[in-house]
Amino acid sequence: MTKHCVVAHRICRTTGKRSFFSDRDARKALGRAQAKREKWQRTETRYYHCRDCDGYHLTSQSRQEHDAAAVLWQELRKIAEESVA
Ligand SMILES: [Zn+2]
Repeated sequence: MTKHCVVAHRICRTTGKRSFFSDRDARKALGRAQAKREKWQRTETRYYHCRDCDGYHLTSQSRQEHDAAAVLWQELRKIAEESVA
């Protein structure tokens, strides 16, 4: 096991975030992110299930902040889809 080994993930098309396949993977990645935390960095403190990619994302936001951001993303996606159509 090396320090650089990365928890398997893909990239969520909706949020652009890393998406983990299970809450176990998310927890592992969360522990890793906190272990290598730098003072100047915002560190992920929790993970949540994403309905769009059916995976798990890490976040440093509170639930409230996250919900507000999710609404924003939905709006942005709507605009993007409309401009394509
Ligand atoms: Zn997602």
